[in-house]
Formats: sequence, C-alpha cells, structure tokens
Amino acid sequence: MKKDMTVTYQVKNGIYVNMTNRCPCACAFCLRQNADGVYGSNSLWLQREPTVEEVCRSIAAWDLSQYEELVFCGYGEPTERLDDLLKVAKFVKARSPIPIRINTNGLSDLINGRPTAPELEDLIDTVSISLNATNAEDYESLCRPKFGPGSYDAMLAFTRSCVPYVPNVVMTVVDVVTSKEEQEKSRRIAEGLGAKLRVRPYES
Ligand code: SF4
Repeated sequence: MKKDMTVTYQVKNGIYVNMTNRCPCACAFCLRQNADGVYGSNSLWLQREPTVEEVCRSIAAWDLSQYEELVFCGYGEPTERLDDLLKVAKFVKARSPIPIRINTNGLSDLINGRPTAPELEDLIDTVSISLNATNAEDYESLCRPKFGPGSYDAMLAFTRSCVPYVPNVVMTVVDVVTSKEEQEKSRRIAEGLGAKLRVRPYES
C-alpha cells in the first residue's frame, strides 16, 4: 500500500474509514467533485481498495480509547463493500467499545441485491442516511442514482428496515441545498420512518 493512500483519518473526535471510492450516485454537491481531501486529510482517492486486513491494521494504529466514534465514510459509498465493512466492524467490536457509524446514501439493498439491514445488528450503532430531498423527482435530479426511478423509495424503505436492528437511525439533509420548509418536511419523513433528522452543514 502506498504511503499517501488515506484509509483512516481523523475528523474532530472521530476516526473515519475510507474503504472505497465506488458510489452509484453522482450528487451535485458531492465533495468528491470539489476537493481532494477533507479536514486536512491526504487525498481520499484510493489507488486501489484496501484489503480488510489493511483496513484493520490502519484502524489498529489509532488509540481508539481517545475517540468518540468510528465512522465508515470517505469518498464513496461504504455499503459498496458491505461484506468487508462488516468484517472490519467485527474486528473493531472485538477490541473496543467505540460506537460505529455508517454514513450512507441508503441504497445498500439495491447495491447488494438483498435486504441488508438485518446484517447490521450488533455491529453498527448508528446509520446516517442521506435523505437530501423530499420527493423522488428532486432526489433523482440532485443525486443522479444509477438505479434510476425507484431509488428514492428504496432509500426510504432501507431507512425503515434499519430501525429494528440499529439503535440510532438518522437521516440527513444538507443545509445549503434545502429550504427551512423542506427541512421541516424532511423531519416529518424521517420521523415517519422511525428515524431522526439531522440538518448538516455542507462540509461534514
Ligand atoms: S452518495 Fe455520497 S459519495 Fe456518492 S455521489 Fe453522493 S455525496 Fe458523493
């Protein structure tokens, strides 16, 4: 593995894990399209995807007792490597009580071709799903998912399906691309699915 390949990096009190650059979306606001790295990290573009062993080794180099959360995030959609992600989560759970979060576009079931929420049980503490829009049409023009129509409903269904298996299910909208009215609508959508809404700033 080349030295400048960023597999894990620190953001505030969290350790972030960057396992893949693959993503079925092309969101208009995606940081991948606007910058090389975030929060002073080296480039998050991977020369190749790190193996599970390499990811575990990279995580083991941090003193996890000093951090509040471990987050699967990075420049890509973490559930593109769901099987590997869960192997890494198992590795972490065996060694540390640190809470584990996945930041996701919520399209895991479409990506993996099966219902995936039950697999998160006992391994993932928080799932943070990008809601981004309050209807399918806006969602598709903003996120441009390769699965096309039906993606928005699949994302909502995935959110609902996580609730019995994951203690903390959160939906997010980005503040700069949503009006106050849309944020309120988003809150009602999230709560209707059993999730919470977080309005997040553009950079985080
Ligand atoms: S889902 Fe995330 S990684 Fe994928 S294009 Fe959208 S913002 Fe970027």
